[in-house]
Amino acid sequence: MAPLVLYAGKPADRAAYERHIARAAREAGVEIRLCMDLAEVDPAEVDYLVFAGSGPVSDFAPFTNLKAILSLWAGVENILKLPLPADVPLVRMVEDGLTLGMIDYVVGHVMRHHLDIDQYIEGNFAGEWGVGYPPLARDRHVGVLGLGTLGTACAERLAANDFRVSGWSRSEKSVPGVRCLAGEEGLERVLAEAEILVLLLPLTPDTTRLLDAHRIAMLPQGACIVNAGRGPLIDHDALLAALDAGRLRHATMDVFDIEPLPAGHRYWGHPRVTVTPHIASATRPETASESLVRQIARGERGEPFTNVVDRALGY
Ligand code: NDP
Repeated sequence: MAPLVLYAGKPADRAAYERHIARAAREAGVEIRLCMDLAEVDPAEVDYLVFAGSGPVSDFAPFTNLKAILSLWAGVENILKLPLPADVPLVRMVEDGLTLGMIDYVVGHVMRHHLDIDQYIEGNFAGEWGVGYPPLARDRHVGVLGLGTLGTACAERLAANDFRVSGWSRSEKSVPGVRCLAGEEGLERVLAEAEILVLLLPLTPDTTRLLDAHRIAMLPQGACIVNAGRGPLIDHDALLAALDAGRLRHATMDVFDIEPLPAGHRYWGHPRVTVTPHIASATRPETASESLVRQIARGERGEPFTNVVDRALGY
């Protein structure tokens, strides 16, 4: 019998996923039984749970025969706090739409800081001509913390745009056109040069407040930060102090300790901070459905899933 797939994501996305999972399965020639409503299934019969922490499932105990939990999110730190069945693979979301959206966001904000576009929008050059030019991209150092699916894609695109890109990850990596570093010494080398620093790390015990006052102080004078990873990667008091002191030029912040960012938070309206409301990128039903179907097909062929979360590492 075809595997039973239960959608347990946000109700608002249900119609789109119903259409696109069915389409993607048809196009891939993968037979599935798709159920969009928890109330209509016996959990013990569900093979694949398409899951978001904001969906209807919080108790996994009745799902006794799961082959995989397929997360709709790339960042799984909140899902890992749930009482997940220990022996069922948790697969995190990797899909083209999410990756391409992140490239657009990161390249856009890096370009903005590289060209210092704000001063012209704001008219800060006060009509002066001959104020000088920004350096060429090939002379601009960009650091990317996190060289996973998203960090690597962004680093490659920035390198293709001629930036001098250094990337940092837990394990040693090789990315064409990108100087790849690892370890504490590697991090210090990336920070020391990064005129624009992009954060695309997952939130784990090891990465929490990774960018603290000590490490912020390693960045070059006037550096900019683009945080599209997670809010708690940064010590916010230290960041605000560095921005207030003019040590850092600007921070583009998409993610925060508390979301939505509370009214009255100092980031709102800060002249050196751009707040974007966790929109750097999103899982898109059209392309995510194709990724879900590929994972289900792998499971049905008895092949290992890709992008399985390492629960000990937390990502
Ligand atoms: P991946 O798991 O593919 O990559 C994570 C990267 O971080 C890897 O390179 C990994 O190293 C590195 N890393 C993890 N822990 C450490 C550590 N302690 N020290 C150094 N490097 C470390 O994740 P993705 O690229 O898919 O996503 C990254 C994050 O982006 C997500 O976890 C999520 O929080 C965030 N995100 C934000 C979105 C937004 O809209 N703002 C949208 C989607 C995701 P290694 O390669 O050695 O394993």
